[in-house]
Amino acid sequence: MTVMQKKTQVRLDRSSRLGKRSTLKLLWSSLLILSLLVLSACGQNSESTAKIVEGKVNVVTTFYPVYAFTAAIGGEDANVINLLPTGVEPHDWTPKSQDIVNTSKAQLFLYNGAGLEGWVPNFLKSLNNDTKVKAVAVSEGVKLLTAEGDDGHGHGEEHSDDHADESSNEQQAADHHIDPHTWVSPKSAMIMAENIKKSLVEVDPAHKDGYEQRYNELRTKLEALDQRFTNELSSVPNKEIVVSHQAFGYLARDYGLMQHAIMGLSPDAEPTGQDIVKLAKLVKDEGIKYIFFEELVSDKLAKTLASEAGVQTMVLNPVEGLTQEQVNNKDDYFTLMQKNLQNLLIALQ
Ligand SMILES: [Zn+2]
Repeated sequence: MTVMQKKTQVRLDRSSRLGKRSTLKLLWSSLLILSLLVLSACGQNSESTAKIVEGKVNVVTTFYPVYAFTAAIGGEDANVINLLPTGVEPHDWTPKSQDIVNTSKAQLFLYNGAGLEGWVPNFLKSLNNDTKVKAVAVSEGVKLLTAEGDDGHGHGEEHSDDHADESSNEQQAADHHIDPHTWVSPKSAMIMAENIKKSLVEVDPAHKDGYEQRYNELRTKLEALDQRFTNELSSVPNKEIVVSHQAFGYLARDYGLMQHAIMGLSPDAEPTGQDIVKLAKLVKDEGIKYIFFEELVSDKLAKTLASEAGVQTMVLNPVEGLTQEQVNNKDDYFTLMQKNLQNLLIALQ
């Protein structure tokens, strides 16, 4: 029985209490068509209405990159449910009650950690007491960056691991201004993918071989992407990038770039007029040719700075979620990161 049929079955069971079973039989096919129409009409938010599947390992993920890697490694052995709907930016999203219901029934809950999902501690407390769900911050093990100061213009200094033994990455994120954007660098994405694979094997050891095999395929793709970033960015003459929100710290660290952000770690941390003037001066002094912006957040500030400094804007995608258009185009982590590399090569010539 497919998920959709099961859903229809539930609906029919519910309505059978209201009407006679004999007449209901005649309505089977029309109800099925009707419910399919309803389902496709609200396809925009299909991820958040995804259902637990019995007989499979059910994994709830918070946002796109964790979902994409988990779906790739999980393959046919795992049912992966993503909480964040298409076109939604993760920094100010919070879960709904249905998300708590689904996660309580799942075997695994995978989130980024490093402070991205501030709602996670309370969310985990609100799950059913008898839930057996295992919660894992998949960025664990990535060497984290701090963004110093509240002005949002931190230059991504490496966070010193002074209390690595007694506290997790999560605790460190709460204590400091930790940059949560680990997935934007293929190097840290590899660590995340490995954590995801280990978690799947742990909750579902019967399908270990499949998880290992699909993880190796994903790992090979991430290594190729990492090689391309390393090779192609090593030869560009300019290394300074100006971005709208401070999401490229790990990318900058791992590939020898210097990030200047108009906004802070979260896209709603707005700059002052003085910040814009300072950045415009930097853009002119350094001969920077493009200001980067992203699709899920307003490009107003990037446009303001670009016109102030007399330069162009271009997209650099932090891959925090897909737009509906990107879903339709079958874009994924790899196609978006390839486009990022192409745009970086143009901007840094
Ligand atoms: Zn972000």
